[in-house]
Amino acid sequence: MRKERNIKVAVRFRPLNSREIQHAIDRDEIPGKSAVTCHVDKKTVDFTTTKSDFEKRRFVFDRVFGASSKQVDVYNFTAKPVVNDVLNGYNGTIFAYGQTGTGKTYTMGIVDKVPERKDGKRGGKQPKMYAHVLPNASGLVSRSLAHIFAALNDRVAKRRGFSFAVTLSFIQIYKDTAYDLLNPGAGPLPLHEMRQKGFVVGGATTVRLENLSQAVSVVNVGLKNRAVAPTLMNATSSRSHTLLTISVRQEGGKPLDDSYTHPIDSSSYMASPPLSLLSGAHSPGPVEDGVIMEGGVRAIEAKLVLVDLAGSERVKKSKSNGQRLEEARCINQSLSALGNVINALIIKGSTHVPYRDSKLTKILMDSLGGNSNVVLIATVSPAPISETETLSTLQFAQRCK
Ligand code: ADP
Ligand code: MG
Repeated sequence: MRKERNIKVAVRFRPLNSREIQHAIDRDEIPGKSAVTCHVDKKTVDFTTTKSDFEKRRFVFDRVFGASSKQVDVYNFTAKPVVNDVLNGYNGTIFAYGQTGTGKTYTMGIVDKVPERKDGKRGGKQPKMYAHVLPNASGLVSRSLAHIFAALNDRVAKRRGFSFAVTLSFIQIYKDTAYDLLNPGAGPLPLHEMRQKGFVVGGATTVRLENLSQAVSVVNVGLKNRAVAPTLMNATSSRSHTLLTISVRQEGGKPLDDSYTHPIDSSSYMASPPLSLLSGAHSPGPVEDGVIMEGGVRAIEAKLVLVDLAGSERVKKSKSNGQRLEEARCINQSLSALGNVINALIIKGSTHVPYRDSKLTKILMDSLGGNSNVVLIATVSPAPISETETLSTLQFAQRCK
């Protein structure tokens, strides 16, 4: 039986910040008084506008994370099932969507140095062992990488002849142009259309990852470049989308242990051919239900894309110059294209998915189509001052449900 596509939408509130608390105090309001009441039952958000027409609206999502939610809980609900599927050959994409300053990057994870294991081994027998080692503030990126390495090392230990390759690329899209965060000097990257396989960003650096701590340092290089590159382009980092792609390729090996829960079994592989983002010539052999046969060796390949979207806030026309308006136009256009694509994907039997309406959705075409998993995490501030943007974020997220 083939796996069904899974689209999940979660909302995450961040805690009030000192500026918002001060703003409330200045206006003689109670800090923490909010336009929104969240997670009545962990799934519902009640939105009450403080504006004149006192409107009340209720939104229901797969999950609502309150201001005190932990990174590990967000990971376990959103990314973990997607990572498990990536390890079984299904592509997955996770988006953080929301107004600037609401916690998209925090949720994805400013990646901290991962402490080495005391015994010096690079793998862990149980995927859980790595989870204990990660700092509490670690976000989805480092938790996903930790989970992937732990699971693959576990397979190495349990299967004779099993091998794997994990590669990573990290790009950003600014004003509808792709740039390499691992090689910022490279300039704009071209987008190539592949026959029936979507689009591939040409020339993006791909790094083979050997272990978690090396992976974390590669991601950190990209994050540093993200902070630097926009100033060169006279933009702020919140004006670009970043796409971090982790590709996992596994080859051969039979389980040595019957109790193992992820047997290599063609029934659980993705239906659409996996597409590698490896730059240069990487051509998988003939693909049969997601299983690549190369000289009789069975291989599966899938990728996880973690997308930190540009800030969704409306830019006031009166306060913007040409550059800012052009940025805003590109962001609005790509975010609405993304909303339309996800909306088309959730409508059963929908034959036209408008991937071609933006560079973002073109690049993500093969990781959103087929029976890939898609998770959208909408981040919001609880402060009344942000209620217009909060409402707009909740509406976007609702459309993706
Ligand atoms: P965005 O990427 O959406 O612009 P950030 O992730 O940079 O927002 O978050 C803005 C600030 O709020 C940062 O200082 C961040 O550490 C903090 N923050 C965001 N979400 C949380 C959270 N859930 N818990 C604690 N601090 C948070
Ligand atoms: Mg950010």
